[in-house]
Amino acid sequence: MNARLMDRGERDEDKGDTTLRPLKLEDFVGQSRAKANLRVFIEAARSRGEALDHVLFAGPPGLGKTTLAQIVARELGVNFRATSGPVIAKAGDLAALLTNLEDRDVLFIDEIHRLNPAVEEILYPAMEDFQLDLIIGEGPAARSVRIDLARFTLVGATTRSGLLTTPLRDRFGIPIRLDFYTEDELLGIVRRGAGVLGVAMSDSGAREIARRSRGTPRIAGRLLRRVRDFANVAGIERIDAKAADEALQMLEVDKRGLDMLDRRYLECIAINFGGGPVGIETVAASLSEPRDAIEEIIEPFLIQQGFVNRTPRGRVLTQQAFAHLGLAVPGRFSTVQSELFGDEDEPI
Ligand code: ADP
Repeated sequence: MNARLMDRGERDEDKGDTTLRPLKLEDFVGQSRAKANLRVFIEAARSRGEALDHVLFAGPPGLGKTTLAQIVARELGVNFRATSGPVIAKAGDLAALLTNLEDRDVLFIDEIHRLNPAVEEILYPAMEDFQLDLIIGEGPAARSVRIDLARFTLVGATTRSGLLTTPLRDRFGIPIRLDFYTEDELLGIVRRGAGVLGVAMSDSGAREIARRSRGTPRIAGRLLRRVRDFANVAGIERIDAKAADEALQMLEVDKRGLDMLDRRYLECIAINFGGGPVGIETVAASLSEPRDAIEEIIEPFLIQQGFVNRTPRGRVLTQQAFAHLGLAVPGRFSTVQSELFGDEDEPI
């Protein structure tokens, strides 16, 4: 998984490169509904001098959740503190973070669906009443203390909103779902990125990268940097569609933006399981990839693009997937598909 170019998880090379991160709401391309909502709520909170209501960003990795959280803090003119669900091991860790916040500060918790339940428990009164209930000591000597907190804003991010507990989800006043970006939006992001990095690129070159970025800004940024590397080495001064295409082929990114692992996933279902239906556990075992990674990283885009469906009986490829792989559709397949058509289960 680590060697994967197209995963939308954050990698070390991305972490160092914060140059592409937009800092203001107006520079953040796409997600217009989310931006319009945020703008209103930020303006209202600012004019009243109050903390913004708690915000939850949900959506696949690399779509801009962390970026938006930072923008929210910046637009509010307050401090930004960041942590992530699995990092907060004990209630005391969260208490330390919360008691250090100042009025109206933003606390960002990434992967909030992975919070330890004992930690989540103390988050409820903190979010609702800005109070912390802590148990100090053990056994008969244990006593509970109540600490008042600053009126902060919690910004949570999750790739799996379906895994959030209801009491936690209900405490976010502003839930925002981020969707995959359109090709035109990604074109804007690639153009802006090329400008920031000082890369000369034709419109058709930028479009080629945008089209093959799996609907994901993080991938657009990563492909832009890799294509630039290829162009540098090849001595190409201005990247056009042909140069971009050649570089992307070397990176094994196909015309629809699918990478090796996407194709392995589709081929596995097509060839080993006759197109499905097949259970996710079986696919995971067969690919030797963790189930979570398949559900969070590979499947959302393939489902959105209409290559695969989730049904109560398992994953089923669409005819389009067979066509993309250059494989014949099995004869019995059209009946299987019509039986299962439209039966989506579990949310992404
Ligand atoms: P997430 O937290 O959802 O995984 P990030 O906020 O870390 O995603 O975004 C990944 C990268 O993609 C960032 O470094 C940023 O440069 C870029 N990015 C995300 N959204 C946008 C956007 N709307 N416009 C421009 N760049 C973006």
